[in-house]
Amino acid sequence: MTKIAFIGLGNMGSGMCANLVRAGHDVRAFDLNAEAVAAAVASGAVAAQTVAEAVARAEVVITMLPAGQHVLSVYFGPDGVAAHAAEGTLFLDCSTISVDDARQAARQAEAAGFAMVDAPVSGGVAGAAAGTLTFMVGGPEVDFSRARPLLEIMGTNVFHAGAAGNGQVAKIANNMLLGISMIGTCEAFNLAERLGLDAQTFFDIASTASGQCWAMTSYCPAPGPVPTAPSNRDFEAGFAVAMMLKDLNLARAAAAEAGADIPLGGRAGEIYAGLEADGYAGLDFSGVMRRISGDI
Ligand code: NAD
Repeated sequence: MTKIAFIGLGNMGSGMCANLVRAGHDVRAFDLNAEAVAAAVASGAVAAQTVAEAVARAEVVITMLPAGQHVLSVYFGPDGVAAHAAEGTLFLDCSTISVDDARQAARQAEAAGFAMVDAPVSGGVAGAAAGTLTFMVGGPEVDFSRARPLLEIMGTNVFHAGAAGNGQVAKIANNMLLGISMIGTCEAFNLAERLGLDAQTFFDIASTASGQCWAMTSYCPAPGPVPTAPSNRDFEAGFAVAMMLKDLNLARAAAAEAGADIPLGGRAGEIYAGLEADGYAGLDFSGVMRRISGDI
């Protein structure tokens, strides 16, 4: 049994925290939102009133926070995790944040006598609740090995991507590809339909031909061929436009820093930014089909 502090009990963190409790770990839960803490208590965690209280006895601190500024302030701000945790505590940040912020956090943690890994996830809210997330982990091998047993409770696939920040690299590069391939899939289905080819027939052909991709076969943005896809329920999210845009913005900033050319990633970001600006932040990201087809 590991003594864990879990900070950030939102859509993702609540399910992850519950799975750790279910596996028999001693979890102290903290969130700025009292209702989120109450829900964690209902699933068996112990409530903490402050960060200090959450981390006082912790061997591992897990965070699942909205963005980089929250992660840096929760760990290293006044009265934050680093001010109260015991030396050698493992910091395990599962939030999606910039590569730079993740590397800065790892440096600060190391300088203060802590171990830290970045472990962003894919798999969404359903994966968090079911314990089937994919984790992409950046940090030293020895710290990855410490984190692994806990990550295997919360997920089914756990990858060591290399040094600090590389988990975030894997996450944003993957999601940039997903954004691009989703828009490409929408364009292909829309073009086929305009030219008289129905979605199911095109799916049957393209899903076994060279255009095949996950956006098509698991999450088809044209209603019909994949019954579980959000396209069959009015593009209810799922993985919202705002979340995809967040990841594309992180990819764009990281690419600028690294001098990597991402013409399609940049264009995908503009398309999703347009949807958000027009009030569609909450639409599932496959709802970009509605824009490509001229419906919105
Ligand atoms: P969320 O907004 O539902 O949850 C974030 C939680 O953090 C909230 O409960 C909030 O009250 C809490 N919080 C914020 N600042 C805090 C602070 N200073 N101290 C304590 N608690 C604080 O967000 P989410 O959907 O759970 O996403 C969390 C992270 O996971 C994000 O980085 C997101 O990009 C990433 N992610 C989300 C999904 C998804 O489908 N929702 C999928 C993959 C990755």
